[in-house]
Amino acid sequence: MILYQLLCHKGHDFEAWFRDSGTYDQQVVAGDVACPFCGTSVVNKAPMAPHVAIGRGKGRKRSGAEERAQQVAENILEAVDGISREVEENCEFVGDEFAEEAKRIHYGESEERRIYGEATDEEAEELDDEGVEYIRFPFIRRRDG
Ligand SMILES: [Zn+2]
Repeated sequence: MILYQLLCHKGHDFEAWFRDSGTYDQQVVAGDVACPFCGTSVVNKAPMAPHVAIGRGKGRKRSGAEERAQQVAENILEAVDGISREVEENCEFVGDEFAEEAKRIHYGESEERRIYGEATDEEAEELDDEGVEYIRFPFIRRRDG
């Protein structure tokens, strides 16, 4: 079973279970999937990854607690995505030079600016040791680059 987040053409979003992605395609083309709010069968997958149910949870309705946990997870992902976008638009990407460049900026050897990039755990520790300020977060790269 696969759970899709769907969006009707009037902007209502809702979730629906399908046996697999092929079943989803067939049912949407056949107009069998209707928006529970307005009844239209003009629906599309909302732009997010599908949830796949595995193992013994198969086909079972999710509990309220699971729904809430899912909602919290989605909110966090959305927030992280927003931060990623902010960072991409306002900071210079330095790739795996991040730790080196952060240190150079810290010691005034490089122009002071906002940068982002990747650092290994060891590099992050070095930055901590040298008192370089930085934040760490799970970066979501946009697919369109
Ligand atoms: Zn609708």
